[in-house]
Amino acid sequence: RQEQYRALRAVDPVTKDGREINLQMNAGLLVDLPHLNESGASGIGLFRTELQFMIASTMPKAEEQEAFYRNVLKHAGGRPVTFRTLDIGGDKVVPYFRAAEEENPALGWRAIRLSLDRPGLLRTQLRAMLRAAAGNDLRLMLPMVTEVSELKEVRDLLQKEIQRQSKLGEQLPKKLQFGAMLEVPALLWQLDELMAEVDFVSVGSNDLFQFAMAVDRGNARVSDRFDTLGRPFLRILRDIVRAGERNDTSVTLCGEMASKPISAMALLGIGFRSVSMSPAAIGPVKSMLLSLDAGKLESLLMPALDDLKPTVSIRRILTDFAAENG
Ligand code: PEP
Ligand code: MG
Repeated sequence: RQEQYRALRAVDPVTKDGREINLQMNAGLLVDLPHLNESGASGIGLFRTELQFMIASTMPKAEEQEAFYRNVLKHAGGRPVTFRTLDIGGDKVVPYFRAAEEENPALGWRAIRLSLDRPGLLRTQLRAMLRAAAGNDLRLMLPMVTEVSELKEVRDLLQKEIQRQSKLGEQLPKKLQFGAMLEVPALLWQLDELMAEVDFVSVGSNDLFQFAMAVDRGNARVSDRFDTLGRPFLRILRDIVRAGERNDTSVTLCGEMASKPISAMALLGIGFRSVSMSPAAIGPVKSMLLSLDAGKLESLLMPALDDLKPTVSIRRILTDFAAENG
């Protein structure tokens, strides 16, 4: 199997009916980077910058952050890297950054909320990214966005950092793309405003599922209770894909869902053309999509999602489809 997947490394990810799919990998540390070549991923769709902070015993200094990002870009060798700004708080604990105890940490002071309340921390990180990507492409995205106005606040800070760099005569990134993670359900009713504000959107299905279904992602008692391949969640994801098409905004999904061939298949069936996953999943997912007739699956799945009196689960429809179509 491993050998088989390795052989697929250089094969373009195109479905049987000719849809080109962008397969990227998730990463967070330098040890992840060799997987880029091994897996044949086209880039890093999610770089979790908080990992550098989580493994350190003290806050990484500005220069350390910059050197780290520079190193990541160097290893990526021109393939796109999407850096996510700090996503700490919630399930991601940074020992030296102690906030008050929270009763609902997942809903608490975390990610972009914390960054906006500690603009010094965010500006240091933005500056480190701008400097590391001088002369190159920089893609950055914000975690846990709830309102589009938060993005505007970050953009203002980013603009200040860009001006500062220019004033100092420093080289800037050649191209800068700005994106948001879609993890908070409130954004589902701001899709058009959101997409007008960003260059790309990436669905964090782990958190979006947790918040949409009101199940703690870390609580084994409830985390498997509802199906990510059930109608409610797939309808949500389909709405996001449609909004992306309507607004001509690129949409990726970078949660765990993309790593399982059956759910990746469902994602392609509802119209996703770009996914980012753990490196080990690239081979199996590519192998699945090479033999997938995405159009055929789509014409089966779309009406099934709209079925008002369903008798079969979507998961069942998917596994039957997979069995019948190899
Ligand atoms: C997600 O929420 O799906 C996601 C990709 O981010 P993380 O798992 O780091 O919260
Ligand atoms: Mg998340």
